[in-house]
Amino acid sequence: MASMEQVLDKQFKSYLEKETIQTEVERIANAINTDYADKNPLFIAILNGSFMFASDLFKLIHVPAEICFIKLASYRGTQSTGQVITAIGLDRDLFERDVIIIEDIVDTGKTLTAFLPQLQHQQPRSLRICSLLHKKAATVHPIQIDYLGFEIPDLFVVGYGLDYNGFGRNLNKIMQLAD
Ligand code: 5GP
Repeated sequence: MASMEQVLDKQFKSYLEKETIQTEVERIANAINTDYADKNPLFIAILNGSFMFASDLFKLIHVPAEICFIKLASYRGTQSTGQVITAIGLDRDLFERDVIIIEDIVDTGKTLTAFLPQLQHQQPRSLRICSLLHKKAATVHPIQIDYLGFEIPDLFVVGYGLDYNGFGRNLNKIMQLAD
């Protein structure tokens, strides 16, 4: 694939190659297989961005595991509740389950900070976060990421499931906005 790609009106250049991503996905899967050797984890993949990562990761999980896919909808609540995040499609009971959230990217940490308490409320036995990417420099709400692929600078990326205005998800590597 060319090292430059046009997505809508913007040019993107290669940032993480397909093989580099795959190696990291394998490393994360191995770590999860070891840590959950005698457990039956429930993966919750957050759509849309994580679908490719979740698919590649889940194929490499060898412990008995379930996966479900949810969408997060964000809306403005009352003044006291502030930003409210609801999960669409969360049809499993998390009580006493070992839950692993699969995210594409943690940026400011706002989304997960708003959403995690709702999951905790269901009293899972454990709750861990797995994210392919993390923009540490953009952190507003610190999130503990238990399984992380890549720490990246505060730049806009597309590909491998991540989009720019809906496009670019089908790129098989991660590309950054070219300046
Ligand atoms: P946070 O709430 O952590 O600021 O935002 C997380 C969400 O913002 C991600 O799940 C993703 O949808 C979106 N996001 C943050 N940074 C990027 C980026 O560089 N590229 C794309 N495509 N989405 C991003």
